[in-house]
Amino acid sequence: MTTPDASPLVLVVDDTPDVYRLLKVKLRHEAIRVEHARSGADALTMAHSHKPDAILLDIDMPGMDGIEVLRLLKVDPELHDIPVLMLSAHSSPEHKTTTFELGAVDYITKPFEFVELQVRLRSALRVRELIALLAQRAQLDGLTGLWNRAFFDSNLRQCLARSERHQHALSLALFDIDHFKTINDMYGHPAGDHVLSSVARTLQRECRGTDYACRYGGEEFAMIMPDTDASEATLVCERIRAAIERMEWPGAPGLRVTISAGVVGERTPRRESADVWVKEADRCLYQAKHEGRNRVVRSPGVAIRPANQGGTECSAAA
Ligand code: GH3
Ligand code: MG
Ligand code: MG
Repeated sequence: MTTPDASPLVLVVDDTPDVYRLLKVKLRHEAIRVEHARSGADALTMAHSHKPDAILLDIDMPGMDGIEVLRLLKVDPELHDIPVLMLSAHSSPEHKTTTFELGAVDYITKPFEFVELQVRLRSALRVRELIALLAQRAQLDGLTGLWNRAFFDSNLRQCLARSERHQHALSLALFDIDHFKTINDMYGHPAGDHVLSSVARTLQRECRGTDYACRYGGEEFAMIMPDTDASEATLVCERIRAAIERMEWPGAPGLRVTISAGVVGERTPRRESADVWVKEADRCLYQAKHEGRNRVVRSPGVAIRPANQGGTECSAAA
């Protein structure tokens, strides 16, 4: 997917270097980067490693031909969204039909008018951008703009697998707004919604760019913190808790909002399921509620530092 600071990447797959050279020169004024794969096999490898935003694909190539490359791209869940434009000397309806049926977005015959290729490529990149935007929107919570529950579930699994593979620390925190039902009852649902988005903004502001602040449920939030041990995560949660306690609510006289949190973290994560992590964080959160709310409770699963340095510890073992 294209990041804001990187221009779209187009992968030209052609066994003749001339086509790539020509395109590289002709496309130099477009805000794109161009890479070259000389064979079908290279194209698949580079598609995985470079995640291009569009592929210009020749059909006649020694070894794996373009039709086979296209078929393999379209059955690969990681690659099937990349728009593929066929660029071929074949002009027969059969080739066009076959490639469109396999999922190509366009078919340009060689020799081609450069401007035609240019506008078709731009159009494919626009569609790609819209698909990426839609995919991202589907993972965001409508009210708060944080990552949603579906994203949280799949991302926690991925973060756990990554941390375990690279033996990097990982922490998870669950937050729950204290007595939120009373806030709704006393000040009304719109005020409750305003509290939810303000709490979400604080979470976002207080975490690192590499953390994932998510809306877990109604008035529950979750934060996945890669490369962060339980000790550091507890400090982050404590900062969030204090920031929320300090917040002022001019439109709601007398309102005071507090939040409770449960934290679980490992310096070197073992093979445990996402469910186990969530249950453990939830157990600590429950304990925070039980002990009087407006506090952070850390799982003793990993003994990082004494309990009196901010945040108490869960009484039961992880
Ligand atoms: P506790 O301190 O034990 O967490 O008490 P609580 O009142 O926060 O807990 P409870 O789970 O009983 O209440 C959660 C409330 O959150 C109930 C529900 O009406 C409200 N809620 C859930 N989603 C939304 C939302 O999107 N907007 C608003 N305004 N309220 C919501
Ligand atoms: Mg709740
Ligand atoms: Mg609550």
